[in-house]
Amino acid sequence: MKIKNKLLSIFCERTAARPFSFLLSPFCLLPFCLLAQSSPQIANHIPQTAIVILHTNDTHSHLESYNDPNFGNVGGVVRRHTFIQEMRRQYPNTIIVDAGDFSQGTPYFNLFKGFPEIELMNKMGYDVVVLGNHEFDNGSKALAKRLKKANFKIICANYQFKNKKLARLVKPYTIINVDGKKIGFFGLLRDMQQVIMPNHYQEVTFLDPIAAAQKMVDILKNKEQCDLIICLSHLGFRAEYEGDIADKDIAEKVPGIDFIIGGHSHLLLEEPVVVGDTKILQVWKNGAFVGKLMINGLDD
Ligand SMILES: [Zn+2]
Repeated sequence: MKIKNKLLSIFCERTAARPFSFLLSPFCLLPFCLLAQSSPQIANHIPQTAIVILHTNDTHSHLESYNDPNFGNVGGVVRRHTFIQEMRRQYPNTIIVDAGDFSQGTPYFNLFKGFPEIELMNKMGYDVVVLGNHEFDNGSKALAKRLKKANFKIICANYQFKNKKLARLVKPYTIINVDGKKIGFFGLLRDMQQVIMPNHYQEVTFLDPIAAAQKMVDILKNKEQCDLIICLSHLGFRAEYEGDIADKDIAEKVPGIDFIIGGHSHLLLEEPVVVGDTKILQVWKNGAFVGKLMINGLDD
């Protein structure tokens, strides 16, 4: 399936998690952003049957709102939840995803070991999540214990896990059926050798992300006949160390991925970065923004 050959409109919006003031954000000036709350006329062009993918990354245990020097008071799961509920009410075909590192970053994680993050993501109605490196901060055993509580799908296609419970909980890919369409998601996670404790690294085996991505596209496209293929990536937008494989490399070397919803780099991509037929998205960190991808006219 090639998006460019289809009558398909894609709108991407980054919405600061400040429901009553985000229209003042500079991002509402972006060409993809003239939607919904900012313009009722344009909102009318987006039918309620549009598939909406709301995405976060690197929320880093920021459960409460906080003051950011550039954006003011932002974030917090209450705001995010309110926004998600409103979007789901307007657009019933809404899917919520996260691109990893929902753990670590505030005392909540140190005190409560990551359980509130999972519970709150359940409450917010997350559908699919890829693991980030910080999910492993307390080791594989602790992670498996937490993930057992998750009501959402957990994906990662380029790791083998020695911990049997973790290996059972994490799948390489998942498919969400929405409005008669099959949306295939697969997950990629960066090489964690340099970023987690050596004793935790013994519990995991890193596999080549390019080979893993190619395998996933083959399965999702040919076997599963998905209408849309989305990679949730915690590789990072660009290479951090020599030999790193990043989102741009995946987009360049593995054709057939429609979107890479990325994390780890804490980048606010004001417009999707287009590499070949793939569009790469990422929305900064700490839950300050929620990315909104609206797909309309995804026909056979
Ligand atoms: Zn990370």
